[in-house]
Amino acid sequence: MERVIISAIEIQDLSKNYGSIRALDSIQINVTTGSIYGYLGPNGAGKTTTMKILVGLLHYQSGSVKIFGQEVKKAPNEIRNYVGFLPDAELPQNSSIERFLTLTAKMNNLTGRKNCISEVLNKLGLSKLRNRKISNLSRGQKQRVGLANALLTDPPLLILDEPNRGLDPIARMKVLALLKNLAKEGITIFLSSHIIGEIEKIATDIAIIHQGKIIEQGKRSELQGQILEHKRYLITGELDIKKVANFNYISSCKIDCLGRYNIVASGNVTEEQLLLDLIQEANSRIKSFSSAETSLEDLFLGSINEKIKEGVVI
Ligand code: ATP
Repeated sequence: MERVIISAIEIQDLSKNYGSIRALDSIQINVTTGSIYGYLGPNGAGKTTTMKILVGLLHYQSGSVKIFGQEVKKAPNEIRNYVGFLPDAELPQNSSIERFLTLTAKMNNLTGRKNCISEVLNKLGLSKLRNRKISNLSRGQKQRVGLANALLTDPPLLILDEPNRGLDPIARMKVLALLKNLAKEGITIFLSSHIIGEIEKIATDIAIIHQGKIIEQGKRSELQGQILEHKRYLITGELDIKKVANFNYISSCKIDCLGRYNIVASGNVTEEQLLLDLIQEANSRIKSFSSAETSLEDLFLGSINEKIKEGVVI
């Protein structure tokens, strides 16, 4: 007998308009169970809209959205039993951690499971703070309370909207380590971010959204394969950046914080050809030229620029 594998999340042809604003444009996403799926995009790309639709907080115009095989529109209440959601929103500041979680437990009919709050506080290292008012917590502690809230129902799927927003590097690494451990316990994680460097450390799969369209998607290893097809160069001197960006093999060209030109080119162009074109076509005065490692961040920016050149996004 053939085994049917049900996806944790299956989105097909999903579109969403806010009045005249097209927030999502025919997006397709498939999150297999057990994966850590990074949903990446710049501000305003459509990440929060997608997540709110997934948890039944927003209606959508067209398409299909399924969680563990069930259409969200048809069973919004049942779906909430399977999903822990961390919204990109403030927690109730005047409540203590314990009172806040007790309310969530009551709303989810968990009052019979008295230990669930202690268990989750323990897991997130919040036991000693349980009576502390939320307004008196640090950002990192508040984010852990948000995660505790999402985990309270012991859901098989976590949907986390920017779990690292506003955290310092150490707190961010702690959250990522925690998510990795949760994934090891078998929880599927769908998380958004606009900081690609961090997600690339833990994600098994990645989708990049820009202006409501998915412009890149795949296993992290596949995307890293694409990275290897690109080369990054660091140049000092003077360049006409607009002319360089228009070379057909250039996927991104920007000035970094050290004032160097940072160029990502597709792998089929040789260094000699690039140098020649820079001198002849962009009237460059080059002081230094070296190659550097590419990252998912380069691919992310490069994909957006390539789609802009193709006219897919503006
Ligand atoms: P960020 O990283 O800044 O949180 P995002 O990727 O989560 O951004 P969304 O919040 O989903 O992006 O917004 C997608 C688009 O929809 C944006 O153009 C935004 O301005 C628009 N938008 C979001 N919510 C509303 C709303 N309630 N009414 C009108 N437009 C909205």
